[in-house]
Amino acid sequence: MDMWEKLQSFEQNFFTIEQQLQSTAMALPDPIFVIDKSGKYLDVIGGKERSLYHSGASFIGKYLHDVLPEPLADTFMQTVDEAIEDDSLKTIEYPIGPGDIIGSSPGASNDTQWFEGRVYPIKDQGDEINSVIWLPINITDRKNLAERLQDLSERDALTGAYNSRHFMHIFNQEFSIARRYKNKLSVCLIDIDNFKDINERYGHGGGDVVLKRFVLFCEDILRDSDLFARYGGEEFFCMLPNTPSLGAAIIAERIRSNIEEMPVTFNKQTIQLTVSIGISLVLDSDTNSTAVLSRAEAALYQAKKNGFNRIEIG
Ligand code: GH3
Ligand code: MG
Ligand code: MG
Repeated sequence: MDMWEKLQSFEQNFFTIEQQLQSTAMALPDPIFVIDKSGKYLDVIGGKERSLYHSGASFIGKYLHDVLPEPLADTFMQTVDEAIEDDSLKTIEYPIGPGDIIGSSPGASNDTQWFEGRVYPIKDQGDEINSVIWLPINITDRKNLAERLQDLSERDALTGAYNSRHFMHIFNQEFSIARRYKNKLSVCLIDIDNFKDINERYGHGGGDVVLKRFVLFCEDILRDSDLFARYGGEEFFCMLPNTPSLGAAIIAERIRSNIEEMPVTFNKQTIQLTVSIGISLVLDSDTNSTAVLSRAEAALYQAKKNGFNRIEIG
């Protein structure tokens, strides 16, 4: 092979390799963005999987702020800056809503998608770091699973209310805050009266329907800042931050009187129920959160003793 043929063969090989590399890169299911330090998209490679990613081809030449909502573009810009400045890999998690990408057709899903962006600085021909590669991986499935696992660990399977473990976790935190800042923090312990009779009369299924309906009712009546939880069986705790015992008594009385008026329908029958409620307030003398719950329990016991369907402050 003479020199000319060798050169031709080398060029041919080089061309084939380049073509292979290009078509491989473009066929990647996950996209790779090349973004410079001014926030400009220099290149978009791959991202063929339309069910997971928006088409990014039209981004080239545009800036982060042309393509993304301002707060997200600001966060992206900050991540690009940090990756370039520290010359190290940065990782960022972010959601993208269906209408968030400006000027691009949405992906197959109409739901918000979660991404993990891996952002790595790259050198230019002058050996300077002026841009990054941004590799977004769609982590929506993982995120949803994590959320579901968290829900399962925090919520009661029958009613969907928070469980006692979650309640105790949050209540202990709020107890410490209330003690430190002298905030008023009240607790109500609510117990359905004669629930055993409801079970006996309407069956366990009837009792379950009552529990579910009761939870919906309480969650509706309480504020977002309150925490309502199934403590066990037919007993429920309700934590009321920034609420003195008088305020808690007003809320407890609202629950008690409304429950009395609320019929629960089960198998074409109407179930009436009443509740008794014990209330307690975090005091300066309380050294631990259990003392507060014990006073609520004692007040509940008193309410039962005084004839059911009533509230007592401990
Ligand atoms: P009191 O008025 O003194 O509170 O009496 P009570 O009958 O309401 O309370 P007691 O503690 O004697 O009985 C509670 C019953 O709740 C007993 C238990 O079988 C029933 N229970 C506990 N968990 C569930 C549940 O998930 N579903 C149903 N249907 N019943 C339950
Ligand atoms: Mg009961
Ligand atoms: Mg009970």
